[in-house]
Amino acid sequence: MNDSPPNTPETPSRLVRINARAVADERGVLASPASLLLGVSSAPQTADPLAGVPLAREIHLLAIGSPDQLPEHTPDQVINRPTSVIIPPLVNAHAHLDLTHMGPRPHDPSDGFVAWVDQIRAQRCTHDAHIRASVLDGARMLLMGGTAAVGDIAGAPAGVPSLVPWRALQDTPLSGVSYLEFFGIGASETPARDRLDALLTKHAPELARSSSVRFGLQPHAPNTVAIALYLWAAQRARELGLPLSTHLSETPEEIQFIASGTGPQRELLERLGVWTDDIDVGHAKHPIEHLRPFLQDAAALDPPLLAAHVNALGGHAPALARTSTSVAYCPRASAYFAAERHFGPHPYRELLDAGVNVCLGTDSIVNLPPETCAGPAARICILDEMRFLHQRDATPPELLLAMGTTHGARALGLEPGAYRLDPGARIAGLLAVECSDEHPLDAALRNDTPPEFLLLRNPAC
Ligand SMILES: [Zn+2]
Repeated sequence: MNDSPPNTPETPSRLVRINARAVADERGVLASPASLLLGVSSAPQTADPLAGVPLAREIHLLAIGSPDQLPEHTPDQVINRPTSVIIPPLVNAHAHLDLTHMGPRPHDPSDGFVAWVDQIRAQRCTHDAHIRASVLDGARMLLMGGTAAVGDIAGAPAGVPSLVPWRALQDTPLSGVSYLEFFGIGASETPARDRLDALLTKHAPELARSSSVRFGLQPHAPNTVAIALYLWAAQRARELGLPLSTHLSETPEEIQFIASGTGPQRELLERLGVWTDDIDVGHAKHPIEHLRPFLQDAAALDPPLLAAHVNALGGHAPALARTSTSVAYCPRASAYFAAERHFGPHPYRELLDAGVNVCLGTDSIVNLPPETCAGPAARICILDEMRFLHQRDATPPELLLAMGTTHGARALGLEPGAYRLDPGARIAGLLAVECSDEHPLDAALRNDTPPEFLLLRNPAC
């Protein structure tokens, strides 16, 4: 053991031993039965006020192995979880925390996507205090679901960009990116750009300040943002060092609109009074082709673009791989909107085979099942997305853990090594998940118990 924990008066270091049924990360089960030795820098009783998660300023993984393999030590604390597998905490790469107040809602996919969008537009919070409360409640549910980092979409109520969701997220122990969403196409393109530019200019020093939650930009989707505005956003992101995200290739309505400039999305723009005949669509292109110049510009960013959904690929996996675009697949959201009915099975395996970094998201709580997302124990949980895929597609547990941890970290510009369990590493935290039989990882994916946060790193605590 050559990595001794730091020991200063401000951050007293404790030696913590965890004994468990097994320990696993994206490489599979690392030891079973398992023990871990941690150097934890924090006041002994620090817990996050939202969900009661034990916090630590730093967590050093000192040793890992079978119980008799650990070096000699005298722990300050022993945590026993004899029926659990210990895993890294999870990364939710695409969520809409400012919709948490709406809760889960039923949806009939045959009503179409625009009817659903109308519901969201009508129920979005518009007051700062309400937006903040919704984001904080969403953060609580993420913590209840074992999440350490999030790519959150900060909506623009009534088209007005707001920094409230980003600032709220900074008051939680979560890390990641808060992507400020904006719309702007046809008659709304120039006013949207001017409004956003004014905000970016006014708050430039605050936006660039180092924080565990970075500020990013999210042009909403190809059917609501002009390609010229996408390119402008990529340029501003380069200048200001901001990460970018967008919805891409999500619905049949979007595919139709980009290819032919017709359908429900055009009717929506007409209804909102923003449709103009010079909107640059209708060239028989797939949305990924339509955005190609933007994907190329965003490839130079750190991290490169994060595209949510990509339910329809149209053979464009190489274009996403070439531009280092990450894809946030939201399995239960795709199922809720019946994407499979229109496009066939989600192409996440084809994307992975092409070398695309595919991570996992939940999208908003509105599309999640009430069984786990309502009531006092409500959770917004990537482990539940992994369980859904394991059950439906028999996706290997190791791949699911990679998608739910290191892939998400990479997509959000975080250190992937903090989401692997290597001796000597500074880790983002640890979860315990109930597992009952001789294959602990499979068992953890077959039950529906909530993950338990044993520790979460929060440099601010
Ligand atoms: Zn979304």
